[in-house]
Amino acid sequence: MAGEAFVTLATNDNYAKGAMVLGRSLRNHNTTKKLVALIGLQVAEPCRTVLSSLYDEVCVVDILDSGDAAHLAMMKRPDLGVTFTKLHCWTLTRYSKCVFMDADTMVLSNIDELFDREELSAAPDPGWPDCFNSGVFVFKPSNETYNKLLALCTETGSFDGGDQGVLNSYFNTWATADISKHLPFIYNLSSIAIYSYLPAFKQYGRDAKVVHFLGKMKPWNYSYNPQSGQVKGHSLPSDLRQVHPDYLTLWWELYTNYVLPALRQAYGQTAFNTGCVEEEVSVAAGELSAPAPPHPPQVSSEERKQRWEAGQADYMGADSFDNIERKLDSFLK
Ligand code: UDP
Ligand code: MN
Repeated sequence: MAGEAFVTLATNDNYAKGAMVLGRSLRNHNTTKKLVALIGLQVAEPCRTVLSSLYDEVCVVDILDSGDAAHLAMMKRPDLGVTFTKLHCWTLTRYSKCVFMDADTMVLSNIDELFDREELSAAPDPGWPDCFNSGVFVFKPSNETYNKLLALCTETGSFDGGDQGVLNSYFNTWATADISKHLPFIYNLSSIAIYSYLPAFKQYGRDAKVVHFLGKMKPWNYSYNPQSGQVKGHSLPSDLRQVHPDYLTLWWELYTNYVLPALRQAYGQTAFNTGCVEEEVSVAAGELSAPAPPHPPQVSSEERKQRWEAGQADYMGADSFDNIERKLDSFLK
């Protein structure tokens, strides 16, 4: 149905790479649904070009700029920046049903059957299984739900500081009310679970449909040698290698075979040493290394002052609480 879409979010170039691999994996498995990427203003133009070639829609969501309820909520809770951006997916009311997928997920087979489920369907979180993990969830866009979620965020915040806490507080009967809203774990298999319950993984892991690279280390933080097909500093125990593909290596294969050529083309030869494609320099040497985080645009202090006074503080960057606190400390000393 045209009214159904997979939705992801990338606020910067690194997560954009994840979104590219995710988009590619959905296409490779012949999804019939639309693909929508929500992106932040920070995402570089060439990355947007590549995303547009994979996704039906690439929507810029800058809630600091939006002048709506999310903007107001954000002013009160700057700590929940990315969370507010993720909740924005509920405003996609031109779609009747959507499946949200974190940019650090990748599909291993067609998962269009998820659209048979209702809001809010999700898989258990490996850390606290009475909570659902918000890396993959089925939802129904609605401005009413969106506003209620924002209100909850602003009033009570999030018990884990992110979207998963807020969503579990809002959809708080998920664990008990309706078992059909429990997605099987194979729709959101996190690498953590592999090691915490190895026998179960050996038994069921082969059926995995979605892999989630949950946690601090994301695939794009590693480096990869395309000649040897090895991800640096990563290897699976040999008994595991026999029961399932090495997901991290699979991510890198998709990235080097499909995404990198497109990025190279979008950036052209001149920009090889900037942001998103910093690794291109070492590709020539036969190896991809982990890219440096993208540099935020430099803003003069006068410009910053003006933005601050206009209510457009860079809460997540230069004007973050940590930075302000540091500045105050140095004044007091
Ligand atoms: N995200 C983003 N920019 C960020 C952090 C997060 O766009 O700086 C989005 C992205 O889609 C990501 C999701 O929010 O997959 C959730 O964050 P993450 O996957 O890092 O959390 P984890 O799954 O490791 O708890
Ligand atoms: Mn994630």
